[in-house]
Amino acid sequence: MALEERGVVVSGTMTAKDALRGVIRGEVFAPGDAEYDTARQAWNRHAQQRPAVIVAAADVADVVVAVRFAGANHLPMAVMRTGHGVVAPCDGGLLLLTERLQGVEVDPEAQTARIAAGALWSDVSPLALAHGLTPLVGSTPYVSAVGYSLGGGAGWLARKFGLAVDSVRAFDIVTADGQLRHVTSESEPSLFWAARGGGGNFGVVTSLECQLYPVADLYGGNLFYPIEAAPAVLAAYSRWVKTLPDEFTTAFLMIRFPPMLDIPPALSGQTLCAVRGCYVGAASAGEALLRPMREAAPLAFDAFGPLPASELPMIANDPVDPMPVASRTETLADLEGETAQALLRLMEAAPASPFFAIETRHLGGSVAIQAPLESAAFSLRDVEFVLFTYGLLATPEMEQDFTRYFATLAETLRPHVAGKLYYNFLSDMDCTPERGRATHTPDHYQRLAAIKAVYDPTNMFRFNPNIAPDDTALANAMNSADEVEEALDARWA
Ligand SMILES: Cc1cc2nc3c(=O)[nH]c(=O)nc-3n(C[C@H](O)[C@H](O)[C@H](O)COP(=O)(O)OP(=O)(O)OC[C@H]3O[C@@H](n4cnc5c(N)ncnc54)[C@H](O)[C@@H]3O)c2cc1C
Repeated sequence: MALEERGVVVSGTMTAKDALRGVIRGEVFAPGDAEYDTARQAWNRHAQQRPAVIVAAADVADVVVAVRFAGANHLPMAVMRTGHGVVAPCDGGLLLLTERLQGVEVDPEAQTARIAAGALWSDVSPLALAHGLTPLVGSTPYVSAVGYSLGGGAGWLARKFGLAVDSVRAFDIVTADGQLRHVTSESEPSLFWAARGGGGNFGVVTSLECQLYPVADLYGGNLFYPIEAAPAVLAAYSRWVKTLPDEFTTAFLMIRFPPMLDIPPALSGQTLCAVRGCYVGAASAGEALLRPMREAAPLAFDAFGPLPASELPMIANDPVDPMPVASRTETLADLEGETAQALLRLMEAAPASPFFAIETRHLGGSVAIQAPLESAAFSLRDVEFVLFTYGLLATPEMEQDFTRYFATLAETLRPHVAGKLYYNFLSDMDCTPERGRATHTPDHYQRLAAIKAVYDPTNMFRFNPNIAPDDTALANAMNSADEVEEALDARWA
């Protein structure tokens, strides 16, 4: 069936499900279907959503049909692969699932990968590693490469090679008008700029092409200390990170592990503090750089050493199975003095969850310089530390505890926060419209809103840290991609 013939509108008593079932090659689910509850579930079980209809796309044509259908029937639309990052539940909209859009092609000569929307980093890494290359994977390999990259993508190689978003060379995207576009810095530079940092606000990305990196030697892992050593370790860490070369990407965290059989007894059921990260280079050089932290306090467990690139995800060893998670993010300019005191007090006041952490990740290095501010919409170039607080919602009552705790955290850190927020770390518990906006500088946001007005004037893709379309007059005046570029250039000249 030709794509044009698959543009359907619901009429009379026909339901969205009936209308879509005849034209979608994948599957369509609606409330009442046996599979509906499974299909709508996110990895983060706390993020519950009740879409009007769910489309599990089997191919790119299904994506085009779903977007045209949503447009013709005024349905807002969300995209989900794993559900690690559902910040605005898709209630009453069309939820598009990308799991079946599979395929990864590695070009060892160009050192690039072409990755379909349904592929996880765990699908990409082995194919890249077979050629001595690695993608810029984050702490868990079980997120989609596309979802991770569109919001930034800060992993353990970030200070050396930059963010995943800076390594995106091209993407294919179905925009709200139902057009499939191949977007590069040359073909549609404004859209290329906007989606790289603007997340899912600009359409459904069906695949992307990104740079891979040759890595021979890595030295990475964790140093764990008793939690009583946290004041000394944090003080030493805040001095130490200032001395590190861009090859070393690290984090400081305070963490309560649940009792678990598959982690070392020194960690199971323990509350500890830790320094974790990865050095790109020889073990001897990494060991020498790490020495001040090995000597900062007596260690509870030393798990830092030479690391094959395939083991990068073992640094954080994030939970794999779906679970209800509460989280909140902030950014910090430093970890010294009163900021450090505040963080230590917040750990003492943590909710009684069996799994809880306050983590501060160090940015800078190539995150700050890899791309000039103007070349991608990602705005966190000058932020030193990203704070990520997360915990398991072990009982339904804990939701209240975490809500209260996050309010206390916001108040306690108010004098110390850097103001901007990291897009990828926002969650359904901490993403308000204001906090969504704070993922961008005011200049970036204004430009994003104008580009949004061009490519998604009705805000179809709104289940995100949302960029509300603005400047519709500008959008209406334009008919072609060239005119879009010209008008935007003139506006920001
Ligand atoms: C345990 C854990 C560890 C994490 N570690 C890191 C880390 O180290 N570094 C980091 O930067 N982030 C990290 N994150 C955040 C994670 O990268 C984001 O949540 C990311 O959005 C997940 O992508 P996904 O597609 O798998 O998730 P989903 O929840 O399925 O999608 C999240 C959002 O991404 C967008 N999106 C996804 N696919 C598409 C598409 N094809 N087209 C358009 N938009 C799309 C949509 O807006 C969607 O709402 C972590 C999250 C968790 C829960």
